[in-house]
Amino acid sequence: MSCCSRPALSGRLAGAAIPRRRDRGCSVVIMAAFIALASSAFGQSRTIVLDAGHGGFDRGGVPGQRISEKDKTLDVALRLRQILQASGYRVIMTRDSDVFVPLPTRVAIANSYRGASFVSIHFNCASRAGANGIETYYFRGDSASLASSIHRNVLSGAAPTENRGIRRRGFYVLRRTAIPSVLVECGFLTNPTEGSLALSGAYRQKLAVQIARGIRREPAPYVRPLTSSLRNVSLGNDFVRVPAETFSTHRRRSSKSSKSSRHSTSKKRKQSSDDSEKPRKKSKKKKSEG
Ligand SMILES: [Zn+2]
Repeated sequence: MSCCSRPALSGRLAGAAIPRRRDRGCSVVIMAAFIALASSAFGQSRTIVLDAGHGGFDRGGVPGQRISEKDKTLDVALRLRQILQASGYRVIMTRDSDVFVPLPTRVAIANSYRGASFVSIHFNCASRAGANGIETYYFRGDSASLASSIHRNVLSGAAPTENRGIRRRGFYVLRRTAIPSVLVECGFLTNPTEGSLALSGAYRQKLAVQIARGIRREPAPYVRPLTSSLRNVSLGNDFVRVPAETFSTHRRRSSKSSKSSRHSTSKKRKQSSDDSEKPRKKSKKKKSEG
């Protein structure tokens, strides 16, 4: 069997949209393989695993939250899939309907695609209606550049809002994935402005377009400076060092955490379970995102 007839390589060729010619078949295959390897080396995967946060019984947000999160994340993910596929990407969805998918399953799906990148889509919430802005998370060092590219593009394309920075955090889906992984919070559903925007299909399309720009590593035209309260923990280029106390074991909501979102508090509990290398127990799994 010649190298040109290997099914796996043929698949890659199709993904790279490189025309095949019989007389130059092998050289084209070698070139395609080189491009794929080079793209992978620079973290620019041509396969994207899209993860729409929450789903099924897990609607996301805080109990009683007016705008549910699970359907907004799914809608953005479906729009993003269409955009990426039109750009020649191979797209895998951890869910494409209103179903609950456990975190270990989401991670297992991601890890079954070597050379891919994982993008998890969420919206934020907070008890304080004024809380607003975009924040993006990563854990692995090889995810930082993708996190930065997505964060800056979403910020520059979203409605005027706060730049809440790029944060390193050991959420389950970021820590357990073996590929570059990013979780983007596309604004606060509990904020009157951002909540009403999220209800608009046109705005969700805009978010999808901007996330796609980030995945394609396109430059962000304008990025708002970091929110002033975060400037003292800035590491440069929108990366922030979240104060140590927010990483400590928050197994219950504290008076301090009531200022932040239930979403974040859930993540802090998630962080605790990450520290013990265990997925969260079902009894605590009101929210499932990582
Ligand atoms: Zn969420």
